[in-house]
Amino acid sequence: MVKDRYDVVVIGAGPAGSVTSRFAAENGASVLMLERDREPGIPVRCAEGVSHRGIAPFIEIDKRWIANQIDVAKLHAPNGESAYMYNNGTGYVLERRIFDTALCDLAVKRGAHLITKADALDLIRENNKIAGIEYKYFGEIRTVKCDMVIGADGVESRVGRWAGIKTAVRLEDINTCVQYTLSDIDVENNACEFYFGSTISPGGYIWVFPKSENTANVGIGLAGHLAHEKGPKEYLDEFIEKHFPDAKITYTVFGGVPISATLKEIVRDNIMLVGDAARQVNPITGGGVVQGMLAGSIAGKVAAEAVKTRKFDAKFLKKYHREWDKRLGNTLKTMFELKERFLRMNDEKLNRIIKFCQKIPRDEFSLKALFTEAVKGDPGLMIEVAKAFIVSKMK
Ligand SMILES: Cc1cc2nc3c(=O)[nH]c(=O)nc-3n(C[C@H](O)[C@H](O)[C@H](O)COP(=O)(O)OP(=O)(O)OC[C@H]3O[C@@H](n4cnc5c(N)ncnc54)[C@H](O)[C@@H]3O)c2cc1C
Repeated sequence: MVKDRYDVVVIGAGPAGSVTSRFAAENGASVLMLERDREPGIPVRCAEGVSHRGIAPFIEIDKRWIANQIDVAKLHAPNGESAYMYNNGTGYVLERRIFDTALCDLAVKRGAHLITKADALDLIRENNKIAGIEYKYFGEIRTVKCDMVIGADGVESRVGRWAGIKTAVRLEDINTCVQYTLSDIDVENNACEFYFGSTISPGGYIWVFPKSENTANVGIGLAGHLAHEKGPKEYLDEFIEKHFPDAKITYTVFGGVPISATLKEIVRDNIMLVGDAARQVNPITGGGVVQGMLAGSIAGKVAAEAVKTRKFDAKFLKKYHREWDKRLGNTLKTMFELKERFLRMNDEKLNRIIKFCQKIPRDEFSLKALFTEAVKGDPGLMIEVAKAFIVSKMK
């Protein structure tokens, strides 16, 4: 039975919102999740690629939401050469509509309440403090009171803005994406493939994530400032015409991915942001599912602690930001610096990187091995990568 008041209200039942709710609920907080859509995970706006080690700590692996297992990444250079990257661990291409529901079910099983078709409209303030949420449910305006709001409302997040947090990112830090699910194609079933090059996807890449031997999510992400002359759809259509001329399109997705570093401010008095809403995405890969789940697990625990100690001020909630930085945020800052370099790499450099990858024996593949090989063959390139690390460490 839904109540008028909760300790915590979470806006959004994507991976970040569901994991946050579950960890807050199982640590003793009363939690309400509001989800705008009719069920979690729909519509799917994702290539659905995740690592086993990223999701396994948060949910028991279940065949129901795994479309395919991935063992290797295949990188394609602008000049047509390719290289396999082994040793990345097992990956999955998910069925996100089932996966997101499973995560949400887990939160509900641990005690969180869920209302779908509930569109959060604004924060409620009392005595200048955040004290609840106004939302629309089947045309009716409702309110719910709480001590804390958690914005897990995705890339287009409004919750942060309502609280006065600066959530805008630079145009070049938003990837504009288009993706088709293709059927009737031949793909390497166990490999996620990435195509690079200025004529293929300037400042980004095209991905082919197989869901089976003859279906795949095939998409493109272009940095916002590079997408004005020729749009991502035109690049993707050209690619598909060349590589999969007989494919059938069964699903089309448009969407944005924030490829900035995490926002400077992700908590204020009585409020926290998680997942895409906090820009907790890997700026190089554009992956945000695992990142949002990890952030949610930290935020949920801190929220429950805030409830127990009755401390909802930003000073206390910053514990979440500090823990996030320690666990992953600082690494993502490094990734952000690398992405800045990567965006500026020309085709010749990309060709050389793939060449290095080809030289590394399959069982010895690691980033360290790649850098070692790169230094041997091209000290200049290595200096660029090293600079990126140093810059990120200084910030
Ligand atoms: C084309 C594309 C491909 C991608 N591929 C990958 C990939 O392969 N691997 C990967 O890890 N990541 C990928 N991503 C990124 C990934 O989809 C996101 O990082 C991830 O979904 C973020 O999870 P989240 O819970 O923060 O937000 P979301 O999954 O976006 O969930 C937010 C939820 O909030 C709800 N909501 C929003 N506003 C309100 C409101 N006012 N009231 C109530 N509910 C609201 C929404 O309906 C939604 O259910 C891709 C993204 C795109 C666009």
